[in-house]
Amino acid sequence: MTNPSLTRRQAIAGAAALPLAAAAAGRAAASAPMMGNDIPTHARFTLGGFEVTTLLAGTRVVPDPQTIFGLDVSEEAFAEASEAAMIPTDASRFYFTPTVVNTGSELILFDTGLSPAGTLAALEAAGYSADQVGHVVITHMHGDHIGGLMDGETETFAGARYLTGATELDAWDMSGNETFEAKVRPLAEAGKIETLEDGGSVAPGVTAMAAFGHTPGHMAYMLESEGRQLLIAADFANHYVWSLAHPDWEVRFDMDKEAAAATRRRLLGMLAADRVPFVGYHMPFPGLGYVETAGDGFRYMPHSYQLTMSE
Ligand SMILES: [Zn+2]
Repeated sequence: MTNPSLTRRQAIAGAAALPLAAAAAGRAAASAPMMGNDIPTHARFTLGGFEVTTLLAGTRVVPDPQTIFGLDVSEEAFAEASEAAMIPTDASRFYFTPTVVNTGSELILFDTGLSPAGTLAALEAAGYSADQVGHVVITHMHGDHIGGLMDGETETFAGARYLTGATELDAWDMSGNETFEAKVRPLAEAGKIETLEDGGSVAPGVTAMAAFGHTPGHMAYMLESEGRQLLIAADFANHYVWSLAHPDWEVRFDMDKEAAAATRRRLLGMLAADRVPFVGYHMPFPGLGYVETAGDGFRYMPHSYQLTMSE
């Protein structure tokens, strides 16, 4: 305050009058172009000695979400669950979130997005290059997870080892699926894909965990460093409200609906009991959160700053 004799009331009145005075003097109030939504494409967290970076490879608004979630419940039940969480019933935003983990000795990419472009853009914005990726882990063979493996005939992550679940690879091997044939077959034929069983190790502190149901051999991966854990959970739960509050609701993309629901209950129960955070591939970006029990189901608690406490 430059004039100590100014009373508080005069100071407030003076401040309020300023924009008017500025306008009167011919200086228009600041204007700027409207720029639309701005969603970041990477976020980095610390887990013990690991750095975990989630990458937004793509996002889109999808209409009529009840054609995907809650296939077996009434419109009213779907609307009630959505309204309780203050989200619309007629459209949803989907996210596609590969995760890159730096263990200090290995850079491990989990899933690759719909195509190389979105994943590479987010990876590079996060400070990494494709040739630094030493391992690519595929959680399951849906197109939004394997789409970034190949750009035409060219491997996107040419220096990497590829790992995936043995059951998953076997299940898709005979499927005739077009995206699998384009993105995974060339790598499999070249003998470049290593397979893992439940409990298998990708690298020290990175362990495969069977989470079957969404696809026949869908795997999650538990990270552990310096006593801290985080689950790379992929697609065992695909919506932060509908899949958590109602884990038994049928989901169109779950290939075995009963097994997928049982896996959801088991993993959500584990995450809630052990207070372990998880990255969900389709959760709202940055895709990191916790689980608490709520009634007969669960509630998503987005990460705030728990994994950012190192300076
Ligand atoms: Zn997916």
